[in-house]
Amino acid sequence: MRPTRRSLLGLLGTAGLGPSVPGVVAPHSTPAAVGSAADGGAAHARFMSLAIEEAHRNARYPFGAVFVHSGRVLGRGVNASAENPSYHGEMVAMTDYVRRAGNHGWAATTLYSTAEPCAMCMSACVWAGVGQVVWGTSIEELGRTGLVQIAIPAAEVARAASPFYSPELLGGVLAGTTDALFRRAQLLRTDRTGGAP
Ligand SMILES: [Zn+2]
Repeated sequence: MRPTRRSLLGLLGTAGLGPSVPGVVAPHSTPAAVGSAADGGAAHARFMSLAIEEAHRNARYPFGAVFVHSGRVLGRGVNASAENPSYHGEMVAMTDYVRRAGNHGWAATTLYSTAEPCAMCMSACVWAGVGQVVWGTSIEELGRTGLVQIAIPAAEVARAASPFYSPELLGGVLAGTTDALFRRAQLLRTDRTGGAP
């Protein structure tokens, strides 16, 4: 599934990156594997569906994430920031991965997240050295659904770490579905203060 043009342009605009191969934001690597819908597209959609499945466990804050290694899901998580402010879906999934697979193999893992990782989560990916990061809804779009956000695109975090980190990044995967998820969540939160994910 290719990213929507709108989400891609939004991402590029925010990140200040120039035009690239559609669907791919790869600050410091050749825009190769991740974005070619012909090969990776179906797999990306399949694993993003699993992240969406996780997201359904928190209807108000549907930030779901999975870590995939060699075609296997080795980490799952959903936002649990009500329990601990650092428990974003990606962080919970990362912890789950370590528990199941140990603290290694990161370069060969792909993180699938229903939303573009925030600066905290993307920084965690930097420190781990996660090879690929794939998301659905952009940070910009999250803002439009009433969620306060740190306005630093994932690509910018990766770029700032470029001397030692060169991930493949892809936004907008199944964004039609994830955007709808966050819009629904906004309705569910109507009587509540928005708050961070
Ligand atoms: Zn986060």
